[in-house]
Amino acid sequence: MMNKPIETSTPVQFLRSVGPARARDLARLGIETIGDLLAHYPRRYFDRSCAVPIGRLDPDREATVLGEVLTAGERRTRRGGSLQTVTLGDASGILFCVWFNQSYILKQFRAGRKVMVSGRPSRHQGRWQMAHPDYEIFAPEADDGGGGHSGLHTGRMVPVYGLTAGVGQHWLRGLVDQALAGLQGRLPETLPPGILAARGFPGREQALREIHFPSGPQTLAAARARLVYEELFLVQMLMALRRSDRREQTGVRLEKPGDLTRRLVESLPFALTGAQRRVLAEILADMRSGKVMHRLLQGDVGSGKTLVAFIAALFVIEQGYQSLLMAPTEVLARQHGRSLDRLALPLGVTVETLTGSTPAAERRAVLAGVAAGEIDLLVGTHAIIQDQVHVPNLGLSIVDEQHRFGVRQRGKSAQAGQDGGLAHVLVMSATPIPRSLALTLYGDLDLSLIDELPAGRRPILTRIARGRDEEAVWSDCRRELAAGRQAFVIYPVIEETEGMDLKAATVEFERLRAETFPDRRVALLHGRLKGKEKDAIMASYAAGEIDVLVATTVVEVGVDVPNATAMVIHHPERFGLAQLHQLRGRIGRGAHPSTCWLLCDRFLAEESFARVRFFADHSDGFALAEEDLRLRGPGDAWGTRQHGAPGFRLANPLRDQAVVQQCRADARDLLAADPGLEGAEGAPIRIRLDEAYGKLATFQAG
Ligand code: ADP
Ligand code: MG
Repeated sequence: MMNKPIETSTPVQFLRSVGPARARDLARLGIETIGDLLAHYPRRYFDRSCAVPIGRLDPDREATVLGEVLTAGERRTRRGGSLQTVTLGDASGILFCVWFNQSYILKQFRAGRKVMVSGRPSRHQGRWQMAHPDYEIFAPEADDGGGGHSGLHTGRMVPVYGLTAGVGQHWLRGLVDQALAGLQGRLPETLPPGILAARGFPGREQALREIHFPSGPQTLAAARARLVYEELFLVQMLMALRRSDRREQTGVRLEKPGDLTRRLVESLPFALTGAQRRVLAEILADMRSGKVMHRLLQGDVGSGKTLVAFIAALFVIEQGYQSLLMAPTEVLARQHGRSLDRLALPLGVTVETLTGSTPAAERRAVLAGVAAGEIDLLVGTHAIIQDQVHVPNLGLSIVDEQHRFGVRQRGKSAQAGQDGGLAHVLVMSATPIPRSLALTLYGDLDLSLIDELPAGRRPILTRIARGRDEEAVWSDCRRELAAGRQAFVIYPVIEETEGMDLKAATVEFERLRAETFPDRRVALLHGRLKGKEKDAIMASYAAGEIDVLVATTVVEVGVDVPNATAMVIHHPERFGLAQLHQLRGRIGRGAHPSTCWLLCDRFLAEESFARVRFFADHSDGFALAEEDLRLRGPGDAWGTRQHGAPGFRLANPLRDQAVVQQCRADARDLLAADPGLEGAEGAPIRIRLDEAYGKLATFQAG
């Protein structure tokens, strides 16, 4: 029924066997166009020759099993969900497969059918079990009309896709085959022939066919290498384009230094570290250059980034301009506001803070003050500042980022006053970013690294405690409190189970207050409190009016209380390594030695315990961030998947570091030869970039 040839931008509904209902099912997998369908790469491949007998399974090693369905059934769980159980048998044993809330699978697992399942087996009460395995049903009637020929399902290597209700393995395979056939001979090549030849890559069309329907392991590897390269190359190209665009842009020119920066540095009770002085010199040189600055300031937790950023702001302010600081959370915005105000006050510099919970009258006054040029430095959350604030004399935007980002543009590049130059942008990353990922996601920025901690920092002692050690942990804490120090007790609150976690934190808080520290001031801080309440609690903790702060992850980033020397983290295994590092960075900020206890459940999976142990043994934020990235992959560790943008599906910047470097060099060479991406090699790349990242991503108006 296809009368018009399909394109990658064609909605999937144009394919045979896809009606409105199936289109909605596919949309749940993020598949709306033919291009999305082709980018829904197989999770793995089934190859009958690699099946393992059930009797020879190995715990924690992924395996594929070929067996017969013995029973299949379902029961309700106490929480109102459902549990599907399928037993499979082969000559050597029995395997239990379980799914949660996936009733639709029972239609396929009928007793007597031959099936293949693949996943990670575990031993449970003496039985082999696999949770949510990928599967393949071998039955003639299972071909449910997606089209395609039966060779798709029985060839040597068969693709296995991530599925959802209404989308079966066979049907999806047929659909991919149909799309590839429909596009045959018309899929434009995106990579320049020179690169294909030099690296021995297959063309795009061939690579896409091979990744879905491999003709063998070698051709599959070549296809994958090409697609990995392409993902990384496109991001590098995007970054290179932004860089070269910016090279042309005039920045606010700052050539009349005043004395604010000098007065601040002289008033500090400590000397700047060598690394702080070096990166300041880099930043000030940028801002004097006449070109607009786009720089990433990196450094481990506590290395003094905020202070460097503040000095940069003063440099702008002393020359008559204003500055903005955007923080990722309300707590952090308020805390930045408070501590910068303290530094700014003696210098006669005005700092104001604006967040979602600033009362309307105060907000109007602040906005008016900013518009009149009376406020020198405005601190606030990203959302508020981006939506509401007009700064007439903006000289510098400082963007403090959490470890969740895509490849979007950062910072407000508002037109500045007088000479028409653009405001400078300084991005601070709240968590260390491994170099490979920084080059990928921040490749458009110049990089300044503070690779030295202030002298006199004492290392934090990190100890793992199991359930039965708990009393000893609390008595150590009591000793710290008796010496005049303060403590954090951290509870994880995970989004999916937020209500229960919050309840646990509240119960713990009551217990600590009534039984563990009856003679101490104990407070509870969590994300559901109003901004003002959070602020009041943080302020009194910082002022030493609270001894023990029971908190969820709202204290994760940036909170600075040098007198806090003890931290107890409940369920450390539920946090990512980078997040644990942020938490631990809340202590060890003063002159006294600090201790962090990781309070683990008695029963922890070996993997989880190994991760907690790695954390206890390492204090370098960059090492922890790399390990996090390695263990969880860039999507999960850095929130890039949720935020869509770079959408690495096959590439992993950590594993593929060498490829990142190649792509970076190739992108720059290509752009040097064809700066506008208009030539025969450049134009297809431009089209593909617009398709993948949207027109806005490459060239912004203004
Ligand atoms: P970061 O933002 O990198 O986590 P901060 O700028 O918040 O670090 O600094 C952490 C703490 O160290 C603050 O209390 C700050 O005043 C202090 N600090 C910053 N630079 C120095 C330095 N050179 N010597 C001693 N202490 C410093
Ligand atoms: Mg900080």
